[in-house]
Amino acid sequence: MALSRESLTQQFSGEVALPEDSTYAELTFAFGAPSAPAAVLLPKDTAEVAAALALVRQLGLPLAVRSGGHSNAGLSTNVGGLVINLSRMNTVELIDTEQGLVRVGAGATWGQVAETLRPHQLAISSGDTRSVGVGGLTLGGGIGWMVRKYGLALDQLQAVELVTADGRVLRASRAEHSELFWALRGAGGNFGVVTSFEFEAHRVEKVTYATIMYPVDGLAGLLSAWRQAVRASREELSSSFSLLPPFGEGDVPKAMVLACYAGGGTEAEAQLAPLRQLGTPMFEDIKEIDYADVLEEGQPPEGMQIVVKNIFYPALTDEVIAAITATQSQPGMRIFQLRHLGGAYGRVPAEESAFAFRDSEIMMFGAHFFPGDATPADIEAGLQPWREVSALGRGSYINFLSTATAEDVALIYPHETRQRLAQLKRSYDPDNLFRGNYNIIPS
Ligand SMILES: Cc1cc2nc3c(=O)[nH]c(=O)nc-3n(C[C@H](O)[C@H](O)[C@H](O)COP(=O)(O)OP(=O)(O)OC[C@H]3O[C@@H](n4cnc5c(N)ncnc54)[C@H](O)[C@@H]3O)c2cc1C
Repeated sequence: MALSRESLTQQFSGEVALPEDSTYAELTFAFGAPSAPAAVLLPKDTAEVAAALALVRQLGLPLAVRSGGHSNAGLSTNVGGLVINLSRMNTVELIDTEQGLVRVGAGATWGQVAETLRPHQLAISSGDTRSVGVGGLTLGGGIGWMVRKYGLALDQLQAVELVTADGRVLRASRAEHSELFWALRGAGGNFGVVTSFEFEAHRVEKVTYATIMYPVDGLAGLLSAWRQAVRASREELSSSFSLLPPFGEGDVPKAMVLACYAGGGTEAEAQLAPLRQLGTPMFEDIKEIDYADVLEEGQPPEGMQIVVKNIFYPALTDEVIAAITATQSQPGMRIFQLRHLGGAYGRVPAEESAFAFRDSEIMMFGAHFFPGDATPADIEAGLQPWREVSALGRGSYINFLSTATAEDVALIYPHETRQRLAQLKRSYDPDNLFRGNYNIIPS
């Protein structure tokens, strides 16, 4: 449906971008999905978010809500519908330096947050990428570089402001609309448009960040040595282990260990030392830097189809290591990354939020790369290694998935959590206005 600017601006006084506008392409760029909405609405404040939602209800078109646009399943856009793009609401305010209380507009990116906090030596553990949005990452979880010290991004959340489907503006926290606050932390996009987040940031003077590459011969030995090293590590240390395919002619597969120690000096050196001795490193880079400098940039490779899946392992057992090692002989271009959890992440009681699988030692994701013209059958065949390794785990993390099916929802939320969410959905969004997501059906 073609929409005219006049018809939209009669009811929505904020900024609008239409397909003919020069800003449209940048505003609608999305990871992982075709993107051609009929119009983009760019509210600058909470009142304009409410007005945008009233317009969406009136037009009856599909809705997508966009913060940073990094949903691997392309959920921040649609074809022929409306997008509420929150990028104009991106202020980052330090409300209380002593308490580390920070209010963040829902359209800010984690790079903006880290830069604002840098001069105050404060940081919020979020993810690994600057351009990822605060909205999507936080409402789904947020496994970042200090996840073992401070938990998920959503564990550091103190309150949110949101606009519900019927246009109400609510504040949710442990003290106000506490059931909604429980649900927002893990299933956020289902209950409204969150306009701002209040986080508790932590004092982090420096971090020590290590990149260590190993040849993949003897992968099983490398993985068991990594397991031993991370199990013995302090909570200040968060680490990942990635299996990388060759990138281009002449390159070889590699194992990459990344680690971030929240601190510096000899303690950091001592904690990182075991990770440098998993085998004979082919490359090492270890530096003491500001937390903001740990965050990197990420762009999807052009012209490829990418299938992203993930799984939680209660423990990195010998059987899991053997299964991962066995996939080496199977064809296909893919990255497997294991992220070490536990610590503060694991201490949060299961009932505290709608995020499940706290009792996991590892979250592993698989990013599978296929040529642009690969058929569904090619993709199915190429996912065989994933089927083998994922058979040993359970559940799924909402933020590392390139699909958003009912089966995904069933994996993300255990049955009781899903039921509790569905009841709440009936109170806050009975008509399922917010359904362009990992949808909870009202019941
Ligand atoms: C390069 C890259 C690196 C990543 N690294 C990490 C990482 O280190 N750790 C990690 O945990 N995850 C990581 N992720 C996954 C990331 O957390 C998710 O893709 C997340 O959903 C992105 O958030 P966004 O705001 O950028 O996305 P968007 O696509 O804008 O939003 C994602 C979903 O959240 C909903 N949403 C967003 N904002 C709001 C809001 N304010 N109110 C209501 N609903 C909202 C959207 O409607 C959509 O359904 C990474 C992803 C990419 C592409």
